[in-house]
Amino acid sequence: MIPIAKPYLTKEDAQAAYDTILTGWITQGPRVAEFEENFARYTGAKYAVAVSNCTTGLHLAMIVAGIQEGDEVICPSMSYIATANSIKYVGAKPVFAEVHQVTYNLNVEDVKQRITPRTKAILLVHQIGMPADIAAFRALCDEHHLILIEDAACAIGSSYQGKKIGSHSDLVCFSFHPRKVISTGDGGMVTTNNEAYYNRMKLLRQHGMSINDRVRHSSSKIMFEDHVEVGYNYRMTDIQAAVGIQQLAKLDWIVGERRKIAQRYAAELGDISFIRLPKENEGYVTNWQSYSIYLKPECPVKRNDLMQALLDIGIASRRGVMTAHRETAYQEECAGLSLPATEDACDNSIIIPLYVPMTDDEVTTVIKGIRSCLQV
Ligand SMILES: *Cc1c(COP(=O)(O)O)cnc(C)c1O
Repeated sequence: MIPIAKPYLTKEDAQAAYDTILTGWITQGPRVAEFEENFARYTGAKYAVAVSNCTTGLHLAMIVAGIQEGDEVICPSMSYIATANSIKYVGAKPVFAEVHQVTYNLNVEDVKQRITPRTKAILLVHQIGMPADIAAFRALCDEHHLILIEDAACAIGSSYQGKKIGSHSDLVCFSFHPRKVISTGDGGMVTTNNEAYYNRMKLLRQHGMSINDRVRHSSSKIMFEDHVEVGYNYRMTDIQAAVGIQQLAKLDWIVGERRKIAQRYAAELGDISFIRLPKENEGYVTNWQSYSIYLKPECPVKRNDLMQALLDIGIASRRGVMTAHRETAYQEECAGLSLPATEDACDNSIIIPLYVPMTDDEVTTVIKGIRSCLQV
């Protein structure tokens, strides 16, 4: 059986967790601080704040951006549902916009149509690792005085116009769920160049507490904390951070391996006229968190039949990225909302296996399997 994905975890990662447990410091402490420093350096952002997962990171981003009840935030429906949910957490309304037909990233023209006097921010998703056109959205946000927030859950190691994702905006949220390119079990990070955002996110992730454990622990004077606002427990543990430090050190190599596999898919499936493969435009470098193929209307095999046929020969696949507006939780408020490009992209695409290490033979098996199921 060839799986759709698997995390790349090694003995060093396990050893780092083991060593950290034996230090006796297992929740947010020195390893978290080190991971944050390394992460900021890697992405080129000034600051990084580790959190329990990307969803809690997005929630903090919404709070520090000042998004509140009655506000609207434009985002794609075609994304993991946590994107839209994070807007709901602060009482605001997700306004779903269409995606581009090839990249599946937000369509800037469509977003423009949906700006109202209530719009406060745009939540830009880098779809399955492919960078969105940050400059275009930055210009749109500047023109309309909106805040730009990036959901970069899948995009660690991707870059846009020569700079790593994480360095372009003031609120960029990453995930270390095992389905992403590097993992800490669960985990997340928010990067920012804004010192006020940075300080407030550090407070909010730890119950609004004015003194962190590391500072108190190393102080020679007794210290008493204050809780300066209502916060949350969104901490990452030192055990996770120790794994994250190891994973981050391997990230560029992992991305390089993923790119080789994607190159083979492009070279060896590119001649099939009735499927469309993803395309990396000039200035956009993806980490290929997922590899999605689109079945054009003239494709002789229906999407679900292709997925079943692949499964029958031992190859896992997944439907294309979900749409939030058709999920039960959003159906009522989205009644009557029509997003044809989004629905078409979701309903007619599949994600095929891509992970590290994936052997040449496994890549060949997937390519041959797809070709035989499509009879080409
Ligand atoms: C995975 C994912 C999330 C959620 O990440 P968690 O770390 O699991 O909370 C949010 N947005 C997108 C686009 C994702 O792919």
